[in-house]
Amino acid sequence: MSANQNTTPIKSETDVVVVGAGFSGLYLIKRFRDMGLGVQVFEAGTDVGGTWYWNRYPGARCDSDSIHYSYSWDKELEQEWTWSEKFSPQPEILQYLNHVADKHNLRDSVKFNARVKAATFDDATSRWTVTTEAGDEVSSRYFIMATGCLSSANMPDIKGADSFKGDTYHTGHWPHEGVDFTGKRVGVIGTGSSAIQAIPLIAAEADHLHVFQRSAQYTIPAFNGPLPDERIKYVKENYDELRHAARYSPDGMGTVPPAKGALEVSDEEREAMYMKGWQTGGFGFARTFNDTGINKEANDTAVKFVHDRIDEIVKDPEVARKLKPTTYPIFTKRICVDTDYYATYNRENVTLVDLTEAPITEITAKGVRTEAQEYELDAIVFATGFDAMTGSILRVDIRGAGGQSLRDAWEAGPRTYLGLMTHGFPNMFLITGPGSPSVLSNMTTSIEQHVEFVTDFIGHLDENNVAAVDADLAEQDKWVAHVNEVANYTLHPTANSWYMGANIPGKPRIFMPYMGGVGAYRQLCEGVANDNYKGFVKMSETSAAAE
Ligand code: FAD
Ligand code: NAP
Repeated sequence: MSANQNTTPIKSETDVVVVGAGFSGLYLIKRFRDMGLGVQVFEAGTDVGGTWYWNRYPGARCDSDSIHYSYSWDKELEQEWTWSEKFSPQPEILQYLNHVADKHNLRDSVKFNARVKAATFDDATSRWTVTTEAGDEVSSRYFIMATGCLSSANMPDIKGADSFKGDTYHTGHWPHEGVDFTGKRVGVIGTGSSAIQAIPLIAAEADHLHVFQRSAQYTIPAFNGPLPDERIKYVKENYDELRHAARYSPDGMGTVPPAKGALEVSDEEREAMYMKGWQTGGFGFARTFNDTGINKEANDTAVKFVHDRIDEIVKDPEVARKLKPTTYPIFTKRICVDTDYYATYNRENVTLVDLTEAPITEITAKGVRTEAQEYELDAIVFATGFDAMTGSILRVDIRGAGGQSLRDAWEAGPRTYLGLMTHGFPNMFLITGPGSPSVLSNMTTSIEQHVEFVTDFIGHLDENNVAAVDADLAEQDKWVAHVNEVANYTLHPTANSWYMGANIPGKPRIFMPYMGGVGAYRQLCEGVANDNYKGFVKMSETSAAAE
């Protein structure tokens, strides 16, 4: 079914306004409708899908296991939908989300092509007024940012960017009709997860590919392939148990934490265990030992293992040297998962440009110029990532109690209680907000947990005639301190990662996601709810209760 493209501005009142129609927004619609509440969703794109609507670059796919990277709330859907591969390709995930939207008529609650520009809380009425660039203005009791952690593309400010005469793309805004690179001289800027998925496919098509690498990346082979029938049968028969295990596991996919440390075993055993993890494909490698995330010496053993694999795969020793990350511990930036990434550098038509030796100085009419030379190109692909976690939230002018701006409140970095609310912004909720496991987990598990927490909480507030709720400041401060304490126990803050905001010039350096794990965090939230939503302040009663 195609999306409703009605352009008439909406002027109305409802119970809840939600921003975003990805995995989070779609589930919110279903939950609020089932509760009998009115919900208006605004989505900047022309259809549902979020990440999977925008990121259509060659090779885009999930690197969470397909069977876990899906909704668990529709038991019929679990049985009727069959994932074709271990790691689903983007078109299939988008098709899945379209299927869900069709099945539950979710599009009726969404206004597409409507980018929210501002949201203002009125202290007198405890209502939010949400406005869009398309002229909509909706008043609601609750306001929910389901805007995603990776949805604000980062276009670096490189001198001369507008002067390039060829074609320019960003992986996060890929043209819907696709791009044919046949016979083209292509430059890819960036070597994160998106680039690592796209590079082998672009290289296979292009006349020549230049990869502009500012930081080398650790990447683990996916060993992707079709999901065997017996695996599908097993999963469908045991989905309930698998989902339960996922919800209470550290990563949201049911993984059992490793029992041993890398320094506790012999060199032979360590090598064999790393090899097993490597050959499992995907995140399996990162789960080999329990100390590589917290102990530099242990981490170095994983680094050495990956460096050895690069030496094995890449034929030119000088290229292999450049591809080996040496400036930050493995796992402290989001680990990448690839198909033939390192091997792509053995192709005659691929050149690695090491920007640590000669940084980009400008983009010219003809291509990219570094301190060393100019590279003539027909197309430039920016695989330069996102203003992660806070970007899409802060791009909206959000004004809370007393007119205070969220941009001011988060000037030194995001501050939340449980990643769900931020003090001073009553009745505003964040789905997978900073301070929650979010990007450190299989996100569909974390999204469902947040959506269920928020909708249950709103149901509880309505039952108790509470009109406004806020995060308690002291509890928020404690939570922020805890998030930092857990992060500082690990090696993570030592890397200039997007988790730290380090990829965006001027962004405060603070480790944004919560590292305590999905299961532990879930139990904590359950405890909060059971303790009459401890840490949330119920501020005022509804007029019905007051009468
Ligand atoms: P999104 O899917 O990001 O949707 C948010 C929506 O909000 C977007 O459609 C956006 O247009 C809209 N929006 C934002 N601001 C506004 C505004 N002001 N007004 C109106 N609309 C707005 N996670 C995993 O767990 N496993 C994976 O394997 C995985 N792979 C990924 C691969 C890629 C290429 C990327 C970029 C991310 C990946 N992620 C993965 C993370 C992924 O973002 C989440 O898993 C999930 O899709 C997020 O869903 P969401 O609904 O919360 O947000
Ligand atoms: P990313 O990881 O932030 O990578 C961006 C790349 O661009 C980095 O190599 C970065 O270098 C480089 N870069 C940024 N600005 C630059 C500049 N001015 N000059 C030169 N290089 C520059 O972004 P991403 O690859 O889009 O991935 C973001 C996240 O999305 C991932 O970490 C993951 O969570 C998710 N994702 C998942 C998958 C998947 O496999 N399922 C696929 C894609 C994305 P530095 O490292 O030096 O900053």
